[in-house]
Amino acid sequence: MSSSQHSNLQPTEGAAGADAWGPRGRALMPGGVSSPVRSFKGVGGEPFFVERGEGPYLVDVRGRRLLDFVMSYGPLILGHAPAPVVAAASAAVARGLSFGAPNPDEVRLAERIVSAMPAVERLRFVNSGTEATMSALRVARAATGRRLVVKFSGCYHGHHDSLLIRAGSGAATLGVPDSAGVPAELAALTVSLPYNDVETVERLFAERGSEIAAVIVEPVAGNMGTVLPAPGFLESLVRLARAAGALVVFDEVMTGFRVGWGGAQGWRGLTPDLTCLAKVIGAGMPVGAYGGRSDLMELVAPEGPVYQAGTLSGNPVAMAAGLAQLTAIGGPDFYEDLAARTEALAQGLEVLGARHRVPVAVPRVGGMMTLFFADQAPQSMAEAEATDRERFRRFFHGMLGEGVFWPPSPFETAFVSAAHDERAIASALAAADKVLASL
Ligand SMILES: *Cc1c(COP(=O)(O)O)cnc(C)c1O
Repeated sequence: MSSSQHSNLQPTEGAAGADAWGPRGRALMPGGVSSPVRSFKGVGGEPFFVERGEGPYLVDVRGRRLLDFVMSYGPLILGHAPAPVVAAASAAVARGLSFGAPNPDEVRLAERIVSAMPAVERLRFVNSGTEATMSALRVARAATGRRLVVKFSGCYHGHHDSLLIRAGSGAATLGVPDSAGVPAELAALTVSLPYNDVETVERLFAERGSEIAAVIVEPVAGNMGTVLPAPGFLESLVRLARAAGALVVFDEVMTGFRVGWGGAQGWRGLTPDLTCLAKVIGAGMPVGAYGGRSDLMELVAPEGPVYQAGTLSGNPVAMAAGLAQLTAIGGPDFYEDLAARTEALAQGLEVLGARHRVPVAVPRVGGMMTLFFADQAPQSMAEAEATDRERFRRFFHGMLGEGVFWPPSPFETAFVSAAHDERAIASALAAADKVLASL
């Protein structure tokens, strides 16, 4: 099939049509986008419209090829349109788009996830990461009979009311840490503490431990840029929560099957009570999941009193795509190679920063990393906000000019996929060499 047969452009739309998508979209949709970060509001400028993806590249509607480190914000760990995923999803499409009845790939994908993550004994599929965290908290509140939820500033857990408090990248970039429209009474049920600060967690548990239903955390933060957990931080959360009868929820929507086969919990050898997943398990289709201890998941309808449902949950096309992606990944070995690619890019950026006397810090793990313009890797949202954001904006636009699509916010994670081969890493570093020289 020629590429024109795949084109999003109608015959009458041509090159002038390509320029009109922005205004046409903005006239009808807030910011012209379906999710705020895509508007480039954090860096300025006009977003490009995508025609298709190929391996590590995006091709825009003007035919420009961009080396992509956004990768749909995490799901595309094999690159764009990987053959086994496209084949499995296409075959599933031909069998029907939705059934409203269970299908075998739900069971197969659940088995794959459970085998990789021992803390997830049973799970429920949903359609997004937001739904996964929202539902996990409902289970935690039902299980404990308590109301209070503890989160960490800069951790993003989706856009539902209980967790849109000091919520990282999108909100941080836009300067609205708390969303309008969230009732104060609801916000009062969520306490947000600084990431990597065990003392404040200890103090809260000492004062209000018996009210706390759950502590929810990104075990590697990815939504204030990549911020690694300090040694002992996650371990302390688990210890304090257990002692107080509260549950620990790991939001591994980004880190699950991204930092390793067993997620961040496998990497750090920890056992949360509940785990939230999405992104990589859906391969770019709308998939989320929450799961954990059997006795907790028994509380979910129809087995228990916690109601949670979804017309399109466990969608057969989405399940086939996710299953094909996890099958292609295969197991833990995949992540050695992925981490080596990430390491090559991160180390290369550090070398270039030193060469051009631009202070950079590049925290990374598995297939995720952030280039911070700072002397040291941030440990918290406050430290991430103190990095040089103006320099980041110039870096972003410089890279885009060189044909590299870096995440359009200083608080987003850059993603490396298996499709980012040596050539792709080398050309990203060649672009960064030019851009850093000009900063
Ligand atoms: C992306 C993300 C979410 C939200 O997932 P959606 O599918 O966008 O609703 C939640 N938690 C974390 C850690 C994420 O990275």
